[in-house]
Amino acid sequence: VLEHPIVLRVRELSKSFEGLKAVDGVSFDLHEGEVISIIGPNGSGKSTTINLISGFIKPDSGIIDIDGESIAGLAVPDVSERGVSRTFQNGRVFGGLTVDENISLGFHRRLRAQRPLYGLQKYPVVRWLSLLGEVACSLVTGPHTREENQELHKRVDREVDRFRERLGSRRADYAYTLSYANRRRTEIARAHISEPRLLLLDEPTAGMNQSETAEILQQLQHLKAQGHTILLVEHKIDLVTALSDHVIAMDGGRIIAFGDPDNVRSNPEVVAAYLGK
Ligand code: ADP
Ligand code: MG
Repeated sequence: VLEHPIVLRVRELSKSFEGLKAVDGVSFDLHEGEVISIIGPNGSGKSTTINLISGFIKPDSGIIDIDGESIAGLAVPDVSERGVSRTFQNGRVFGGLTVDENISLGFHRRLRAQRPLYGLQKYPVVRWLSLLGEVACSLVTGPHTREENQELHKRVDREVDRFRERLGSRRADYAYTLSYANRRRTEIARAHISEPRLLLLDEPTAGMNQSETAEILQQLQHLKAQGHTILLVEHKIDLVTALSDHVIAMDGGRIIAFGDPDNVRSNPEVVAAYLGK
């Protein structure tokens, strides 16, 4: 087996909320081009793990390295500058922006990484603003050059093309008018447009019907075939099995099983954890 370099290294990662250990000593490696899925009952710490890696919450202790560099405790924009993109469990898009604008936001982050805030990041208010999220981030990135605009449009076209049948006719529509599934498609496009080094997806098919789920599976298989490195939180076990190189099963903030999808799904402790809830 080829040993691909480690993209994400997590060691003894822990986070408590008022005494509740949401994530409790989690360790794993994610290699380049690999898909690892995290499964586990509700409240087992899956989203908290994603939130810690993406910088949305700060760990109490533990190591999070991207390509050998520590990102533990960094602010969200700084984590995303290091090539980490994510989607959210509830499908967060900006309702007052169009589909195209939402997707574009993901690319502003990349521009920001290449041209960090024109040096403006030395002002605390700018750093604080950029914590507000992608919109603020794009504001402080400043105007684009003609080349950057061309590149942006090319990439938005490419992302929309991925979801052609669904988003193709909606590009100028405000995101608040979209169906739930289309919001989630827009979100995936936004996360992907920057060609992230690591893509974190929190239940991308939650609330989707069978045919929508099958379509997302196809999209994710396509991303995997392109060589993307993906950490996926997902409940639908058939999707997990079809897509994952390895599966992590969590319960009570801890990893209770790791390995081959079929082994993990049939692991007695994993079965018991699901039945126990
Ligand atoms: P999962 O995604 O596996 O369903 P979460 O990671 O969202 O689980 O939550 C793990 C535990 O941490 C749960 O008990 C949840 O209530 C708690 N938790 C998560 N986020 C917070 C927060 N921001 N404040 C307080 N408790 C939280
Ligand atoms: Mg969750």
